[in-house]
Amino acid sequence: MSGASRVVVIGAGLGGMSAAIALAQAGMRVTLIEKNERHGGKLNVLETQGFKFDLGPSIFTLPQVFRPLFEGDGRKLEDYIDLRRVDPQWRNFFEDGTVVNLWERTEDMRAELAHLKDGTEAFADYERFVEYSRAQYDVVERGYLRQGFDRFGEFLRFYGLKDGRAMDWRHSMAGAIRQRIRDPYLRDIFAYFIKYVGSSANDSPGFMNLMPNIQLEFGLWYVNGGMYEFAWAFARRLDELGVESHFGCEAVKIEREPGRVTGVVVCEGSTTRVLPADYVVSNMEVIPASEKLLGESSRQLKKLSRFEPACSGIVVHLGLDRVYPQLAHHNFFYSRKQEAHFDRVFREKRLPDDPTIYLVAPTRSDPTQAPPGCDNIKILPHIPYINDKHPYTREDCVELKKLCLDKLERMGLTDLRKHIVVEDFWTPFDIEQSYYSNRGAIYGVVCDRKKNFAFKAPKRSRDFDNLFFVGGSVNPGGGMPMVSLSGQHVARMILEQQGGTR
Ligand SMILES: Cc1cc2nc3c(=O)[nH]c(=O)nc-3n(C[C@H](O)[C@H](O)[C@H](O)COP(=O)(O)OP(=O)(O)OC[C@H]3O[C@@H](n4cnc5c(N)ncnc54)[C@H](O)[C@@H]3O)c2cc1C
Repeated sequence: MSGASRVVVIGAGLGGMSAAIALAQAGMRVTLIEKNERHGGKLNVLETQGFKFDLGPSIFTLPQVFRPLFEGDGRKLEDYIDLRRVDPQWRNFFEDGTVVNLWERTEDMRAELAHLKDGTEAFADYERFVEYSRAQYDVVERGYLRQGFDRFGEFLRFYGLKDGRAMDWRHSMAGAIRQRIRDPYLRDIFAYFIKYVGSSANDSPGFMNLMPNIQLEFGLWYVNGGMYEFAWAFARRLDELGVESHFGCEAVKIEREPGRVTGVVVCEGSTTRVLPADYVVSNMEVIPASEKLLGESSRQLKKLSRFEPACSGIVVHLGLDRVYPQLAHHNFFYSRKQEAHFDRVFREKRLPDDPTIYLVAPTRSDPTQAPPGCDNIKILPHIPYINDKHPYTREDCVELKKLCLDKLERMGLTDLRKHIVVEDFWTPFDIEQSYYSNRGAIYGVVCDRKKNFAFKAPKRSRDFDNLFFVGGSVNPGGGMPMVSLSGQHVARMILEQQGGTR
């Protein structure tokens, strides 16, 4: 072990922990440092007064992506977490009182859509759209996701003309939906799948319509006991593999020489020291790390400007002294004009005046998340990242919270405010400060046809051969399975590089 290469991983988010595990599995000496006091990054938790609030992700998809990290020594993912399938996957509420469930099984969708005006037509469109979504998923998965491409050239070489045509480049995500779906409710539902990457369906390329397939083909899951159990699973795995972890330990500088990095300067309380490294993996996002850890000039930082942040959000966790039985585990309360809502948030960078609100009520799958007779809900409308075009304040975010509560009360959660017994409130400023995310972004880099064609920053530094990035700001982007993929791809790139230099 003493001759093994030393890797320092900065950040114990899912991207950093995935890289650390994959590298340790391959026999490398890994040190993981995290400025906060616990594992998980945005996968975070708050336990108070009998309520257990998952502060970050609530939707778990593509379990197969995580399997390689938990396999080996005769073990499997299920030895670490208890996954439960959630169905209906989403319950969708509209201002006119219409409610549409999204079910995993096609036959359940047939029955569901039969309630709509022109239900037969809606179901025919639904089936055709799901087929299109599967085709987009298949083509993107076998190249971009599986191979871990970072550059347009790699992409073109792999896909060539035939697959290039199969991938929907030409339309926006919303445009491709409009072409295939006539029902206005289904249009809004499919467009809001872009939530998973914090972007706009009006500006993302058509192939991002692969997202419904992710949950319809492979299921939507909940980690029993709360999503934070997954962070504990990672912690166990890191321990088993002998990864040395330091919490309350912040990277303040990456040491460099021409073409290479040599170590990380860390600060623990009042102590500063250098951790020498053969490789450095940063789970701190590319732009903040380039600015703060590498001290890049504004000219160099400008080159990264196309990797604009994805959206942020206000996140409201409420403990209630009653249960609203109309809620499913995952619920969406739609904007009256969703396309205008996307433009307001993503193009104009203004706080929404009528947001689509995501509301999660985990006690539907797991009663342990709230005391008996009580409910635990999280409310998350997407809002612009912290920006200079239309700057907002914490007070503006409080006003937006009121608007959201008004909307939920109007749409059926009668007297919601009167039943709040516990409240926890996060603004983009809290998200930025807690995880050092770029301008409070929740999902790393935005997907945008014009700005970056849905490409995120490359995983390997252009300037330093042995410096790599993982997490939502690099390919393939944000969301739990994607950031884990970036960690696993980076481990493979380091091992290949090491093989090449031996
Ligand atoms: C409210 C919310 C809801 C979400 N919902 C979902 C969902 O339902 N499904 C889903 O798949 N995804 C969801 N996401 C997105 C998902 O959480 C993220 O994409 C993913 O967890 C990010 O992982 P990461 O590795 O990129 O980075 P992070 O989780 O941000 O981790 C980065 C880590 O690096 C640490 N760090 C940064 N700089 C330093 C430094 N200088 N020194 C030491 N440590 C440092 C940070 O403290 C942090 O722990 C949600 C996120 C939020 C906030």
